[in-house]
Amino acid sequence: MTSPERPGVRLTDGFARAFPELGVPWKAAATPEPRLLALNEQLAAELGLDPEYLRSDEGVRLVTGTWVPEGATPVAQAYAGHQFGGYSPRLGDGRALLMGELADGRDLHLKGSGRTPFARGGDGLAAVGPMLREYVISEAMHALGVRTTRSLAVVDTGATVQRETPLPGAVLARVAASHLRVGTFQFARSTGDVELLRRLADHAIARHHPRAADAENRYLELFTAVLDAQASLVADWMLIGFIHGVMNTDNTTISGETIDYGPCAFMEGFDPATVFSSIDTQGRYAYGNQPPIVQWNLARFAETLIPLVDDDENAAVEALTAALGTFPARYDRAWTEGMRRKLGLPAALGRSEEPGDSAAQGHSAAPDVEAAPDDEAAPDDEAVAPLLDELSRLLTATRVDYTTFFRALIPAAEGDTSQVRELVGELADGWLRRWREMNPSVSVMAATNPVYIPRNHLVEEALDAASGGDLSLVEELLVVVTDPYTERPGLERYASPAPPDASPHVTYCGT
Ligand code: AMP
Ligand code: MG
Repeated sequence: MTSPERPGVRLTDGFARAFPELGVPWKAAATPEPRLLALNEQLAAELGLDPEYLRSDEGVRLVTGTWVPEGATPVAQAYAGHQFGGYSPRLGDGRALLMGELADGRDLHLKGSGRTPFARGGDGLAAVGPMLREYVISEAMHALGVRTTRSLAVVDTGATVQRETPLPGAVLARVAASHLRVGTFQFARSTGDVELLRRLADHAIARHHPRAADAENRYLELFTAVLDAQASLVADWMLIGFIHGVMNTDNTTISGETIDYGPCAFMEGFDPATVFSSIDTQGRYAYGNQPPIVQWNLARFAETLIPLVDDDENAAVEALTAALGTFPARYDRAWTEGMRRKLGLPAALGRSEEPGDSAAQGHSAAPDVEAAPDDEAAPDDEAVAPLLDELSRLLTATRVDYTTFFRALIPAAEGDTSQVRELVGELADGWLRRWREMNPSVSVMAATNPVYIPRNHLVEEALDAASGGDLSLVEELLVVVTDPYTERPGLERYASPAPPDASPHVTYCGT
């Protein structure tokens, strides 16, 4: 425990103590010459942590795990998971540690902190480039209003990591609502210890979905709450063109936060088949496949809950199957609401929220945007549906840059269609006319459609420079993407797609 007169951090070991079966107490690897590369001062302040302290020797040792505050018990967490559809009974934190819970209940977690008993063949390490990548993209996602783990700091360890070439090693310190995953439940279920599974489910309810505790069947309600949170999350991804790239069940959270930024990237030209990850040869995690894949992952979650939902296995399967069947409608509703905001046609007041709709509320992708007042007679979903269908066809046919297109609709809403014309010629004229008859709100659109996303070629350029010791481009990129809706002069290159002659972007796992 830190005394009040001394800055520091208070970490508790609630998870480690409650679930000895799901974690191995472990120590981070020594860091030869730690050097702080990035510190999220805003997040630190939100967490009540003093940035000056985090910059101190002890602070840097904290965010690399080589200094452990009294009261904390870092653990490598155990989990299982389906990776690209194949089941691995024992994954776990191979190169990560849960340091403990912060004062607000969130996890402080490290990635790249050395081998653990779950490391299998891995070296337990991470390189500067991929850790800064997670930092930049997760913070961009947060600024875009998408639920995500946050990045607190990246430290160059001074060690060399051997990949295809020798690279500088790094540790990322991240903060998450928790690190409970579908894979955590798969692991707990595989032990055959139903009481462990029940404790885990009760922990998840208390921590993330407390309203489920009052339901007649709290475990079925937990499932429904996670279903809703994940439907809303993947809708948010789709609305901004985000491709996670490695949606294994161990990367699907119970909280509904995006986790584990590995081979993720943003789609530029619209194409549902877009894949960036070099190992995703079948396109399992392609842009357009993300909603059904989340549903598939949630089916795996449902399987783990069978013994809790009903003593009668058939009844449990029936109830969980029925709940799972509501996923497409939940997803459609979240996506349609988001798409209406992108088009400046928010639903009429009072229409978008349903009682009992616990998990997704308050986590929509858009910043707080007022629903249209009743007297403006927002078009109903039946009127908007054909407009959305036609828009999908238009985007698919033209493969227009997704982000630029929606931003170009803002002047078009006021009659200046020149930017849209520049992108898709006259193809959109009829659509634009029908859309404008619905009186789109420019202010809603401007607050919903980003100017700046972390574009792949700019992310790579910045990370290459950082791996060579020059952090200035990463710092500039962060300034740009953490304020994505404010168009600023001089930042035009950040708003433009990769040059047409650029080779296709490829991302790699094993980072
Ligand atoms: P990820 O793709 O980052 O979600 O990781 C999948 C699994 O591989 C997790 O169990 C990780 O802990 C493990 N892993 C990934 N990279 C390494 C590494 N370099 N050393 C040890 N384990 C790793
Ligand atoms: Mg993972």
